[in-house]
Amino acid sequence: LSDRLQTVFQKLGSKGKLTEDDVREAMKQVRLALLEADVNFKVVKDFVAKVTEQAIGEEVTKSLTPHQQVVKIVHQELINLLGTDNVPLQESRPGPTVIMLVGLQGTGKTTLSAKLALHLRKKGRRVLLAACDIYRPAAITQLESLGKQLGITVYSEPNSKHPPEIATRAVELAKKELYNVVIVDTAGRLQIDEPLMKELEDIDACVQPIERLLVVDAMTGQEAVRVAETFNQRVKVTGLVMTKMDGDARGGAALSVRSVTGVPIKFISSGEKIDLNTLEAFHPDRLASRILGMGDVLSLIEKAEEMYDAEQAKRMEKRLRKGKFDFEDFLSAMHQMRKLGPLQQIIGMIPGLSQLARDEELVSEKQLKLIEAIIFSMTIEERRNPELIKGSRRERIAKGSGTSVQEVSQLVKQFQQMQRMMKQMGKQMGGKGRGGRGG
Ligand code: GDP
Ligand code: MG
Repeated sequence: LSDRLQTVFQKLGSKGKLTEDDVREAMKQVRLALLEADVNFKVVKDFVAKVTEQAIGEEVTKSLTPHQQVVKIVHQELINLLGTDNVPLQESRPGPTVIMLVGLQGTGKTTLSAKLALHLRKKGRRVLLAACDIYRPAAITQLESLGKQLGITVYSEPNSKHPPEIATRAVELAKKELYNVVIVDTAGRLQIDEPLMKELEDIDACVQPIERLLVVDAMTGQEAVRVAETFNQRVKVTGLVMTKMDGDARGGAALSVRSVTGVPIKFISSGEKIDLNTLEAFHPDRLASRILGMGDVLSLIEKAEEMYDAEQAKRMEKRLRKGKFDFEDFLSAMHQMRKLGPLQQIIGMIPGLSQLARDEELVSEKQLKLIEAIIFSMTIEERRNPELIKGSRRERIAKGSGTSVQEVSQLVKQFQQMQRMMKQMGKQMGGKGRGGRGG
């Protein structure tokens, strides 16, 4: 039933379906845009193929051109692929929570470990930094000076040659002195090599970090995929952090890495400066727009849709005032409301009501669906003239919508009451003529 509803809904403001030509033409540009953003070519190929197949035959919304419609679908798919908003770091109970950072040299692990320490301290955690990069000259002093600057303790062993042991003793210290979190800053190489991978595996086995974050430089090009695959094979990565997002790079690596590992992007780092302003939670919509790089097309789409919504709302308001509001308008109003997201979600955003949103029975999404089903089973004529709905028509509608005659009668009755009320209100509002946005 809900599939049927969906298609009927889509048809409401439609001007035909996307043809294969529409989609292929628009996809050429999408493909180029993604390659320019340095998304891995294989990932681009798969993505374009999948979305092409999916887009052909989709309805074109009245407010958009076919090209815009394709871009809109692509944008939404990118958002889906990039994944969930704001996935928090996992914590171990009892502690300490161990977080290991891995990645190539220069991607920003050490910088990130300091930023993460700040982030976690702000959440009330006692954080210990463990300096496990013993190869890069001055790596330990780099972390120690960051620690001093921020007032965060750094555990290091200047003479040790065994990072897994350093990490182990850091965790022991954390247990003894009741630190909540240990962030293990590891060494990187310019390229993946076996000794590095073995060492990370050893650290992983010794301290069993609950989070193994792969740090990825946003400027990484095509090779991002292979790097991510290798790290993920050796230490099962639990999250991604994209760094250097303050640069010009469109950040296609994020899409590549996300799509081959399937693990969530947890943070975006955007600056050399160590403060909380340069460490952001991840928002897939922003990154999707950046990777697609079609800012102007995307804002055109948004404007066109807003204008369309405003027009619809105005028209509806006029009909409301004249007391001409019928079942068709009602459907259309529901459709507009739906654009805000599922009812459940909308209610979830209202403070105080979020508890309610969790209880599916209380929020009557079901009830709404029932109403929709009934309206969909009416003929156009009946929707426009609800007073026609009597006797055998009620029976037919009930059968068609899988409801009972009583339910149909009740809806019609309620609707007619609502119409009368609206007529009254319309008279009271009189000719003030203020065009607000309806929902
Ligand atoms: P590591 O080798 O992975 O530990 O990388 P580092 O943390 O030492 O960072 C390497 C370089 O990148 C340093 O010069 C950092 O200041 C710089 N860096 C790190 N993160 C960012 C970032 O988000 N934006 C910019 N612009 N530079 C960064
Ligand atoms: Mg480092």
